Amino acid sequence: MSEEKFYFQTEAAELLNMMISSVYSNRDIFLRELISNASDALDKRRIETLKDSELAENTNPEIKIEIDPDKKILSVSDNGIGMTREELIEYLGTIAKSGTKEFLKAAKDENAKQELIGQFGVGFYSVFMVAEKVEVISRKLGTDKTYKFTSSADGSYTIEEVEQRGECGTTVKLFIKAQDDKKEDPDSKNYLDEWTIREIISKYSDFISWPIIFKDKTINSQKAIWQRPDKEITEEEYKEFYKHLTHDWQDPLTHIKINAEGSTNFKGLLFIPSQAPYDLFMNPQSGGVSLYINRVFIMNDCKNLIPDYLRFIRGVIDSEDLPLNISREILQDEPIIRVIKRSTTRKIFNELKKILKEDREKYIKFWKPFGRMFKEGILQDRENSKTLINLALFRTTHSDEWTTLEEYESRMQPGQEGIYCLAGRDNLAALKASPKLEPFVKKGYEVLLMSDPVDEVILSDSRFMWPEDMKKLLNIAQDDVTPQTADEKKESEEKIKSLEKDFELVKNKALEIFKDKLEDVKPSLTLTSSPACLREAAGGISFQMEALMRSAGHPVPPQKRILELNAEHPIIKKLIEMTQAGNNDERVADVIKILYDQSVILEGAMPEDPAGYAARVNELMKIALEG
Ligand code: ADP
Repeated sequence: MSEEKFYFQTEAAELLNMMISSVYSNRDIFLRELISNASDALDKRRIETLKDSELAENTNPEIKIEIDPDKKILSVSDNGIGMTREELIEYLGTIAKSGTKEFLKAAKDENAKQELIGQFGVGFYSVFMVAEKVEVISRKLGTDKTYKFTSSADGSYTIEEVEQRGECGTTVKLFIKAQDDKKEDPDSKNYLDEWTIREIISKYSDFISWPIIFKDKTINSQKAIWQRPDKEITEEEYKEFYKHLTHDWQDPLTHIKINAEGSTNFKGLLFIPSQAPYDLFMNPQSGGVSLYINRVFIMNDCKNLIPDYLRFIRGVIDSEDLPLNISREILQDEPIIRVIKRSTTRKIFNELKKILKEDREKYIKFWKPFGRMFKEGILQDRENSKTLINLALFRTTHSDEWTTLEEYESRMQPGQEGIYCLAGRDNLAALKASPKLEPFVKKGYEVLLMSDPVDEVILSDSRFMWPEDMKKLLNIAQDDVTPQTADEKKESEEKIKSLEKDFELVKNKALEIFKDKLEDVKPSLTLTSSPACLREAAGGISFQMEALMRSAGHPVPPQKRILELNAEHPIIKKLIEMTQAGNNDERVADVIKILYDQSVILEGAMPEDPAGYAARVNELMKIALEG
């Protein structure tokens, strides 16, 4: 039977090259990866044979490790699900993992490379850190053909049909690289040495639920870690279990142990990863909690076990009360699952509360990658909105530190009606520069700076949907929110009235130019350094939200806004003079257009006619420079 030659997909080849020259300090993990893959393959086979009993071959499921120091071969075999010829090509010849391109781009220099390898997790390819050649011999469950994949990581691999494997499953044969004795490498280990192998397995893979056979004996305890008492388990064991489960190469941020006893019994071990995986936002389904029933693996990523906005949580839930043959469809309506979900969610909240209280730094580490997702829950999970909002962190004008709403409230000024908020852009620095903050900052009020896209939805939701006893969020971008007491409001309204006459001509002109875009033009007494700003009419939406909704295909009625002009500003004073003189119509129109466009830019949006805007600014600059 002849062998066929293939070339690795570009990214795969690059990644491979990187591995072969890698000096990644923890090379041992290649074995953890292989054993994890073998264990997954055994899980998959079990599930398949449950569905179709004809597939059950008469075997003992196991993972077998063998070493042959003379031939320099280390092999890992399993009698799991196996791979077809096409699957060998698809799984080993290409990398489907999203974010690979970005990863490779980021990993150009050697230091970055070492650091990133650990973050990205290269799975099977990690074998090339220790092997110069790899053979993967596999027979898929239910087929009678066996194929061999061979590669020396030189950009290509071959596939050929070989003599039939006795049983379905996979053998990975590593031809271990000769040790470079001249190079002083403290991490260099002999992977053909019996004790080295024993040590690595007991460190990384002891909890694997299938027997790992080495030198004719089972060498792992196979104890399900979530079933063991907490005090017996070391931090190291938790970490290794997490890595096995998630294929993440980094330590988790924290683990949450659940032991529910009562009408529904279940145990769980959940983890918050320390970083969002590369594809968390691109592929929101990549998280997940696995379901076990009585220690038997049932499925990965069981969505019904955890609310969608907690999809970054990983781990295991093991219930004694469910039937083993449960299907995905049935799960949805299974009352036990609903009970588990509720209680698990509560447990996660409690853990987060505890971290927030006791270890702020750790909490911020959780919040940075996952806060955005977590906040979706405020909108999705009405039952828990209150808990969720109290667990949220925000930026504010008070300092560069994160704050909770409770902390904000403790700093509120006497008589302050609610929490002042400014939402809008995906850019904190731009938000901080917004002229809308001026009157609030001038009066010493703190304002929340909400720069995540979901924040604005939360703001408008809070206005209409939140019960009385929930925090009152006030959107300062809206017309009716000002930092004034009732008396001050009255006083300034009178003052504005007296100014209105002066403003009348400017207002008429602006409304004439922007009849579709402006609802009103008002003098402002609260802006300090900026000449103008745009406000949303009460209940209106920001430019960003408008764009977001349009891009998602929602029809948005044209938004009319309010242009506020700073009555004290020299430009505005001059503008009023010019309109009153009545002989400079074109210049007046230009200035109004520039002020409007500027305000649009300050909202983080684009002027409708950028070229026209630039031309008008240039014209004024010319005059200023000549003058
Ligand atoms: P990951 O395990 O993170 O998906 P790997 O590079 O380790 O990435 O493996 C790629 C894929 O190859 C796996 O998802 C699996 O489908 C397949 N695979 C690897 N090892 C085995 C094995 N021993 N048996 C069956 N399939 C395997």
